[in-house]
Amino acid sequence: MTEVDVAVIGGGVTGLASALALARRGAAVCVLEREGKSGRATSTHNSGVIHAGIYYPQGSLKARLCVEGRDRLYRFCEEHHVPHARCGKLIIAADEHELEELDRLLVIGHANGVSTLIRVDSDFIRAKEPNVRAIGALWSLLAVAAFTRIALVIGQVPQSADWKPVLEWVPGVMWLTAGLLLVAAAGSSRRAGGRQPG
Ligand SMILES: Cc1cc2nc3c(=O)[nH]c(=O)nc-3n(C[C@H](O)[C@H](O)[C@H](O)COP(=O)(O)OP(=O)(O)OC[C@H]3O[C@@H](n4cnc5c(N)ncnc54)[C@H](O)[C@@H]3O)c2cc1C
Repeated sequence: MTEVDVAVIGGGVTGLASALALARRGAAVCVLEREGKSGRATSTHNSGVIHAGIYYPQGSLKARLCVEGRDRLYRFCEEHHVPHARCGKLIIAADEHELEELDRLLVIGHANGVSTLIRVDSDFIRAKEPNVRAIGALWSLLAVAAFTRIALVIGQVPQSADWKPVLEWVPGVMWLTAGLLLVAAAGSSRRAGGRQPG
C-alpha cells in the first residue's frame, strides 16, 4: 500500500498542476491516472490557445483567474522552453450590427485587465489578415502553445522531485478507517492510502 497526503484523481493539466502545487508545498502527492500516460485527454486535444481573458463577466473568478493564469502560463512556457507563438487575435464585425458587440467586448475586456485589447480599422485588419473582410475589429495579444508539451513538462517536474504519477490506475472503492482514506484500484487489489485531513 502506498501512503500519501493527497491522491489526485486524473492526470490532465488540472490534476498535474494541482499535484505540482501541493508537492511544492511539501505534501506527498500521487496522481491516479487511468491511461498509460498522463495528459492524453482533453488537455492535449484542445485548440492550444492561451486565452487573453476578454469574454468573462467583469469581476468573476473566471475573469480574474484567466488573466492571472495567462501571464503565469506565458512565464511557464518561457522557463520550460515550451513552443508558443504570440500571434494575436482579431475579433471581427462583418456588418454594422456586430460593431455594437465589439464595443461591448472592448469594455468587458478592459474591465478584466486585457490591456492589449484595441479597436482597429480595416487597414489594420487587411495588414494582419488579407483574407478577412470586416468593417471593424478588436485586436488583442493572444498566444497558441504546444499543450502536449505543457502537459509533458508539468508531468515531469514532480518526477525530478522524486514523485511520479501512478498510471493505468482507476480508483474504485474508497473507505475511511483509522484516520486513513483508503482507495482501492477498480478491479484489483492495489491500494493507496491517505491521512484523513485534521
Ligand atoms: C474542443 C476543445 C477545445 C479547447 N480549447 C482550449 C484552448 O484553446 N485553450 C484552453 O485553455 N482550453 C481549451 N479547452 C479547455 C481545456 O482543454 C480543458 O479545460 C482542460 O484540458 C481540462 O483539463 P483537465 O485536466 O480538467 O481534464 P482532462 O485533460 O480531460 O484530464 C482528465 C484526466 O483524468 C483521467 N481520468 C478521468 N477519469 C478517471 C478515473 N476515473 N480514474 C483515473 N483517471 C481518470 C483522464 O484519463 C484524463 O487524463 C478546450 C476544450 C475543448 C473540449
